[in-house]
Formats: sequence, C-alpha cells, structure tokens
Amino acid sequence: MRRFRSRAELERWQDARARRHIAWVIDHSAFYRKLYAGRALAEWRSFPTIDKHAMMESFDEVNTAHLSRARAEAVALRAEETRDFEPEIGELTVGLSSGTSGRRGLFVASRAERWKYAGTILARVLPRPLWARQRIALFLRANSNLYTSTRSSRIAFHYFDLMRPMEEHFDRLRELAPTLLIAPASVLRFLADARVQGHLILAPEKIVSVAEVLDPLDESRISAAFGQKVHQIYQATEGLLGVTCPEGTLHLCEDHVVIQRDDEDRGRFSPIVTDLFRTTQPIIRYRLDDLLQERLDPCPCGSALAAIARIEGRTGDTLELLGAEGQVVPAFPDVITRAILLAGDEIDAYRVLQPARGKLLVSLSTGNAERAAVEDAVRRRLHDMALKLRALPPAVEFAELVERPGPQKLRRVQRLDLPHAAPRPPVPPAAEAK
Ligand SMILES: [Zn+2]
Repeated sequence: MRRFRSRAELERWQDARARRHIAWVIDHSAFYRKLYAGRALAEWRSFPTIDKHAMMESFDEVNTAHLSRARAEAVALRAEETRDFEPEIGELTVGLSSGTSGRRGLFVASRAERWKYAGTILARVLPRPLWARQRIALFLRANSNLYTSTRSSRIAFHYFDLMRPMEEHFDRLRELAPTLLIAPASVLRFLADARVQGHLILAPEKIVSVAEVLDPLDESRISAAFGQKVHQIYQATEGLLGVTCPEGTLHLCEDHVVIQRDDEDRGRFSPIVTDLFRTTQPIIRYRLDDLLQERLDPCPCGSALAAIARIEGRTGDTLELLGAEGQVVPAFPDVITRAILLAGDEIDAYRVLQPARGKLLVSLSTGNAERAAVEDAVRRRLHDMALKLRALPPAVEFAELVERPGPQKLRRVQRLDLPHAAPRPPVPPAAEAK
C-alpha cells in the first residue's frame, strides 16, 4: 500500500500515474482514442466524461481484450442462471452489475486484475495482526470464486448464500465463529437483531458492510449489537472506491482511483472516477450516480486520502415477504434488484416499493419494449425469488415509473409500511462508531 504524507504528494503521484495510464489507454482502446482525439494529455482532468450508458453502448470498443458485448453478456447471463459465478472466457472474468441507475452493467477484468483487486481489499480489511489466522464469513448474492479459491493456511473464506433463508445460516455461523464478517448492511442488521434477540451466537473481531448503503440507523444498531465499529467497503463495477481506516472513517481509495467531484453542493458530490490501473476495461472520467457526503473534520488517522461522512445514494431496504405459516421472510434489496434485472435488458429503470407485507409495487420504465411481456418476466422472476427464499409469491402490481428529482433520496427498493422508512436525520458515522 502506498502511503502519502500530504494531499500535494498524493495529487502529484496521481497526475503522473494518470498521464502514463491514459496514454496507454488511448493507444489500446478505440473508444477512448476517438473520445480524446486532438486533446492534450496534460488536460486529462477536464476530458469528456462517460457514464454507464456510454460504457455499455461502446463496450466492444472500450475494452482492450477484443471481447464483444454480446459474447460477454451471454456468458455472464448463463452464469447467473446456473449460478456458476464469475465465469471466465480464457483469462478474462465477466460479470453483471446492477448499479444505482438500475441499468444492467457488464464488467470484464483479467485474472491478474481480479487477483490484485482481491489482494488490495484483503490488505485493507483483514483484522490485525496480519499473521493471525482468519475465518472469514462472506455473505454474497453470488459466490465469488475469486475469494473462495484464495488458498492460504491462514485465511479461510466461507461463503453464505443470500438466496437462502437467513435462519439456515445460524448454525453454521455459530460453528464457524468467524473472525471477520463481511455482508451487506441489511444482512448485518438482520444478524444484529437476531443476536440481540438471542437467536444467534456470533462474535466476530471485525464487521464490514458491503454492497449496500450503510444506513446510519442500521449502523448504530449493528454497532451496539456487536459492541464494535462497523467498517465499510465501498466498491462498484467501476472499482474499489473506498475502505474504512482503523478509526472507522471511510476514505476514498485515491491511491488506486482519482475521484473528481461533480455538482458539489455543501460537501455533497457525485464521483467522477478514473481508475489508474485497470487496462482490460479502462475506466476514465466515469460518472457515478452515487451521492457522497464529504467529512468536514480531518480523520484522526492522519491519512491524506479524502474522508467521506457517508454515502447517501443506494440506500436499501429489506422487504418482507410472507411464509406459509404467516411468518415474515426477509428479502434483501440486492436479491430484489437481481430478480428485476434478470427479467430483461428492456428495463431502463425500476423501483420496487412494499406498501404492505407480501405486496410489491413495481414501477418500470421500459422504453419502447413490449410492456406486458416485460411485466410477465418480472413477475416470474419475483415468484422464483420468493420460492427460493421459501416464501409465498408476493402480490405484484405494476406502474409506469415517473422519476422526479427532489430532496428525498431515491431508493430503488423501499419498504413503505414501516416507521423505518420515514426520513431520519443523518448521524455522522464517526460519532456513531465511538
Ligand atoms: Zn481515517
């Protein structure tokens, strides 16, 4: 891990690295070559931005591995269906991502890039001391052969499938007694509540929230239930964007990516990401939909990397389905999201609201696609998901999606029938964690 003594030193390093990397990208990616034609490399900080739409439209020309979108998509989708995760095409790993905009994204990375990525994350989240044995419980929607194939006598990964009913995992968690627990915020919250209610024996040394926005209320409950700080990994298809330091403050990974700020408003901004290392699918000046809140006071750890008070976008809510005996079956937001996205490419945007237990209101924007067919596909996917979770199929109603920007942050998946869903005043995570 590179360490920087000051912002100035960090920014000098970033600038040199970015120029070298972007020069390489221009040589190897037809898309970026066209986009930056006639521009001076020194001005890379003001080069045109791209977004997920542009990335997907020009996938074939963006990537430097001569991989077509059709081929990558077919392989990735087949893997989702058969749950053979992170499929490989030769040396390349492909995958699907949902992203905040609700449009399906496609990523491709070389094996070397994936290993480097795993190593970078592990170096930052493993509890200290580094030579201690670690049992890592990983709650993911999809198993990642990246982690589970990591062979080490000191580090053992154990995968817990989010598609299984949560209670099925309790015995295994007790037997495993993980030292490190990594899971989406909604799962951590569920486990925290189960622990408080005495249904679950679990005492990890470190807890890391991934994949979903860590809601301040959830954070305080998780922290209280386990008697420790809740750490975070902030990542996207676009790369590893942030990791918490020992103080529990989320720092941007500016030693890997440059994060420029778009539409800054009182410390709140959307990131424009430039990955300084990825070559298979280069990410340069890429606009993310996430909304970040800058931390105003300096972090006591003294890191030169920018500190984030919280990520405001992509807040999830765990929906409640009904079991055969009338019991509540949790459906985590990422699972709902996946079900919707698997229903088809035609879905431009969506929201899933739960007006009452076991009831889902799905709003879709489908462009010019045949709407009835899309709705049927969505209904089927949601029913399949419910069956896998051992819940009754939810009653699904559809509506046209109308999006209005406003002060209320957008949540793609949201529960409406609980006080939980009401807006809450933000709590700085640093204060919560202490
Ligand atoms: Zn810090």
